[in-house]
Amino acid sequence: MQIIQDISSLRKFVAISKQQNKTVALVPTMGYLHKGHQALMLKAKQECDIVVTSIFVNPLQFGVNEDLDKYPRNLEGDIALCEESNVDVLFTPTCNEMYPNGQPLTYVNTTKLDSNLCGASRPGHFKGVCTVVSKLFNLTLPDKAYFGRKDIQQLRIIETMVNDLNFPIEIIACDTVRCEDGLALSSRNSYLSPPERETAIIVPQLLNHIVSLIQAGQLDVKSLIQSGLSFLSECKIAKLDYLEIVDYSNLELLDCVKDKIIIATAIYIGKTRLIDNIVYDLKDL
Ligand code: AMP
Repeated sequence: MQIIQDISSLRKFVAISKQQNKTVALVPTMGYLHKGHQALMLKAKQECDIVVTSIFVNPLQFGVNEDLDKYPRNLEGDIALCEESNVDVLFTPTCNEMYPNGQPLTYVNTTKLDSNLCGASRPGHFKGVCTVVSKLFNLTLPDKAYFGRKDIQQLRIIETMVNDLNFPIEIIACDTVRCEDGLALSSRNSYLSPPERETAIIVPQLLNHIVSLIQAGQLDVKSLIQSGLSFLSECKIAKLDYLEIVDYSNLELLDCVKDKIIIATAIYIGKTRLIDNIVYDLKDL
């Protein structure tokens, strides 16, 4: 595996791979890699000749009071996991390499799809995501790029961006990888103290609680959210950021559950904000 920090070496590597008619996959990450990231890399390696994994903690997508400075890092562990996953190139640019003038003068933005869920709680977050992902696409020119359903709003926004801006890239969605007790793997789980970690299973439990109510025939969204809130109120350490039920295609809030929906939540466990979601299709009822 090659570790590349600069854009020109990455471009050279990609150009040679393309000359050899090799297909290229991109797996964008912020590092502190775990088995959720690994699932993306392994799927990428199954489907493409060359896998480029990027690790870049993108300052543009962090708000002023967010965890940019303390975002967990473990390059040595990340290198080992990438090697184990047969990644070909680990691209680890510095901030200066990605944004030589500090803040860029050009951004890629999304509209409407960022009105709810994390977009409402984290203004500007998806503008930062779209900008950095567009840059990574232009640097890597991948045939396919791999994203997790764990970040479902990000996935839907990237799929839409690729369509709207005609990036010739296929977006591959990968299922959320979870711990045995149901908690979704996340780099941010490392912030949790042991008692917080135990409490954190309330996050998937809350989503499953909503699903079971829907399966029992409750389709009124206000009532579902109300039941969710009282379920959560049992747990003193958990503080709700949002619990929303939105339409899968346009991410708009619904009054009544219909067709394919996303049940999504963000919950603070102590100071750590965890997100999770379940995609549910009423046809499966
Ligand atoms: P991050 O490093 O958190 O920016 O995540 C990089 C990519 O890995 C994104 O596409 C995430 O959706 C995906 N990802 C993160 N956690 C998981 C997980 N538990 N299961 C599947 N994919 C994940």
